[in-house]
Amino acid sequence: MAGLNRAMPLAIVVLGTAALAIARRIQACFPDARVHGLAHRVGADIAYEDFGAHLRELYASNTPIVALCSAGIVIRALASCLGDKRAEPPVLAVAQDGSAIVPLLGGMSGVNVLAREIGAALDVAPAITTSGELRFGQCLLAPPSGYALADIERGKRFVSDLLAGETIRTDGSAPWLDDANLLRAADASRVVRITARTASGDDGLVIHPRCVIAWIADALSKDIIERVRDALNAHDIAPLALAAIVAPLQAMSSEALAQAARAFDVPLRFCESTPFEAHCKEGIALHVADQPVDAETIGRARGTLTVIGLGPGRADLMTPAARHALDAAQDILGYETYVRMAGPFRADQRAHLTDNREELQRARLAFELASDGRRVVVVSSGDPGVFAMAAAVLEALEDGHATHPEWHAVKLAIVPGVSASLATAARAGAPLGHDFCVLSLSDNLKPWRVIEERIAHACQADLVMAFYNPLSKARPTQFDRAIEIVRTHRAPETLVVLGRDIGRAGETLRVVTLGGLHGGLVDMRTMVIIGSSTTRRVGDWVYTPRFYA
Ligand code: SAH
Repeated sequence: MAGLNRAMPLAIVVLGTAALAIARRIQACFPDARVHGLAHRVGADIAYEDFGAHLRELYASNTPIVALCSAGIVIRALASCLGDKRAEPPVLAVAQDGSAIVPLLGGMSGVNVLAREIGAALDVAPAITTSGELRFGQCLLAPPSGYALADIERGKRFVSDLLAGETIRTDGSAPWLDDANLLRAADASRVVRITARTASGDDGLVIHPRCVIAWIADALSKDIIERVRDALNAHDIAPLALAAIVAPLQAMSSEALAQAARAFDVPLRFCESTPFEAHCKEGIALHVADQPVDAETIGRARGTLTVIGLGPGRADLMTPAARHALDAAQDILGYETYVRMAGPFRADQRAHLTDNREELQRARLAFELASDGRRVVVVSSGDPGVFAMAAAVLEALEDGHATHPEWHAVKLAIVPGVSASLATAARAGAPLGHDFCVLSLSDNLKPWRVIEERIAHACQADLVMAFYNPLSKARPTQFDRAIEIVRTHRAPETLVVLGRDIGRAGETLRVVTLGGLHGGLVDMRTMVIIGSSTTRRVGDWVYTPRFYA
């Protein structure tokens, strides 16, 4: 797909159910695309609350956008972003009945390619308005992946020259231009040069094949970026011709290497030894292949393990960081309910559903997959660090210290989420507005005696208490015992917030008093917030003031 920006999965944005059928038809052509729908109006893969803000967020993160609404709405929504030259993803407006396709932005990132693909799917001719594209049948300035245009401004002048009637010849192999409608001549005045060499002044249109691999034998030193740059300069090779940085397996955790790969915007791969014959000078060897190199075929990547929190359930309460981690994941592990909540997944993503009690096994499997170089995400509800998988993952890492040293080379990250106590508190008002504590009432992993002592101490300290895991079928009476302890410290009129399935379908919120609280009112899907001596009501809201007498 020539030049199409594939860094981010396509966002198909709809405002109402009328556009859904066409959205799904477009989605069927792009395996990683997701349909984004206005929350409460349309059930889609991803919910958003504010159309303009959502579109601007997608644009800023360089996500290709297909909006099923009028071009005017899209233009107005994005107008304030257009000054930002850093991102210009493809943006198209498609009529919600599929009768018109209008590429709006992203000429250099493949908007017309996308428009033609959608056109083929919907059997409509897209409204292509780019003159070079119309004349030549394709955008000369958006070469396919594996190639990079050296200089966009010079490229634009080059296309203008061709439009004015100049002839063209190619120096080097550019098979994607074979079908283009170009005025070719052996003695042409304009040249397209396909070369790894640095472009010089009068070089015409220079396109670099990504055919150079840099092998870094000694990855511990800090000045990797400079040394790679020097090596490229010494051989007169353009940085854009770099396909990958490759280093020995032992260097996997090197931050300096990761920085170098980011600086050159190339994949970082690891091998036992050099993937090609080379003599290293100052710890670096360059290899120039005849063809663009697919980095995926060299050694392997550093695996990643990201532990994320989905929030309480609603898509718009999931952080963008968690969403990005899910989009990038190859393997998704977790308790079945949460993995389903995190979906739907693309065909190239693997979901591993496990039982809720197998946390340590799940964490070990996650490390094993990540040690093989895969991008692994472990999901929890709420926040992953609150009675959830982040601690289980670190327990596994500690347990495996001696037996699995390779787990330490995995790039581990923990992405926070909106925990159930916070989501419930926000629904009720601000019951956690002053000092509070969180307790799990589950005695699966700690003795019940400890729970009773902690409740008594928290009561004595007059802390607001948020109870997770209040009750289960296996422990039907413990909640009532816990409440008995609270009652010996706090007045019967103390306010209690009960949030059930907050942020999910059928959520309920109740405010009761300690006097009326009993186990019949709660279950495993309930969050219990017990007020302190100052927790009070204003109108329908419950809050704990910030001051303390
Ligand atoms: N990591 C999760 C908590 C896992 S423990 C978080 O940060 O939210 C599971 C307990 O959390 C449940 O027994 C219940 O008490 C609470 N809980 C989780 N999701 C909830 C929701 N949507 N509404 C109310 N309580 C919830």
